[in-house]
Amino acid sequence: MATPTPRRPRLAVWKFASCDGCQLSLLDCEDELLAVAGAVEIAYFLEATRATAPGPYDVSLVEGSITTAHDLRRLKTIRRRSKVLVTIGACATSGGIQALKSMADAGDYVRAVYAHPAFIRTLDTSTPIADHVPVDYELRGCPIDRGQLLHVLTALIQGRQPRLPNYAACVE
Ligand code: SF4
Repeated sequence: MATPTPRRPRLAVWKFASCDGCQLSLLDCEDELLAVAGAVEIAYFLEATRATAPGPYDVSLVEGSITTAHDLRRLKTIRRRSKVLVTIGACATSGGIQALKSMADAGDYVRAVYAHPAFIRTLDTSTPIADHVPVDYELRGCPIDRGQLLHVLTALIQGRQPRLPNYAACVE
């Protein structure tokens, strides 16, 4: 009898408020990404595929900050369905440039930018993912470092613990 093929880890990539630059870093990995793609099942990655599987996911990469109530509900669902959640980039890890609105009246910005501000539903703040759900690993930078991303993905796929800088030590 043939030996059953082991199940490949399921990878999902999510976007919240962001410029997509960190997801593009992943796509820029080209050859290395092909090796990763062969080792995982890409279950959700709208930037690159049509895959929209509902989960559960072994690894979720999350780009972007939380700026709407809908974002927040979506994030909580993603967290429930993800074994490991990794935030990628400054938007996800610190709120990004859009977090400037947290220091001012968000309504002023909405009125200045949109022709019909009454249709805009936004929170007063732009906040990092870790403010709302537990995060397993953070990749910082704007955009993230490709080598670091590949290291983390490869380690997680192989069931190893990724080695990342101790960011807390950097600010002490
Ligand atoms: Fe774009 Fe920088 Fe945010 Fe990444 S961290 S999504 S590159 S703005």
